Amino acid sequence: MVVVPCPIWCTHPHNEEYRSLPDVSHHGVEITLAVPVHGGAIDEALTARIESWPFTGDPRTMNPFIAYNPVGDEFAQLTPEAMTAAADQVIAHGYALRTMAASITG
Ligand SMILES: [Zn+2]
Repeated sequence: MVVVPCPIWCTHPHNEEYRSLPDVSHHGVEITLAVPVHGGAIDEALTARIESWPFTGDPRTMNPFIAYNPVGDEFAQLTPEAMTAAADQVIAHGYALRTMAASITG
């Protein structure tokens, strides 16, 4: 038996039985944005969580990265820098949406 310590951000219960070390992954708390869609429904967008797969041998996933699913599709693997850039775009878009709304209300 091998004991693998969790990073401080990991909230994964790890109650499954792992067959090999590359199967071990850490997952942080998932955040998502509830957005209004057609018909008055609410959908989820901009879903993100921290992940790492420390024993895969893949440098893109061995270290912590952001698993980012902006539009309900597959999760992209973003570096902290790429996530920050994407977040800046979301913030800028939010201001553009406010400006659009204000152009109607005056
Ligand atoms: Zn963990």
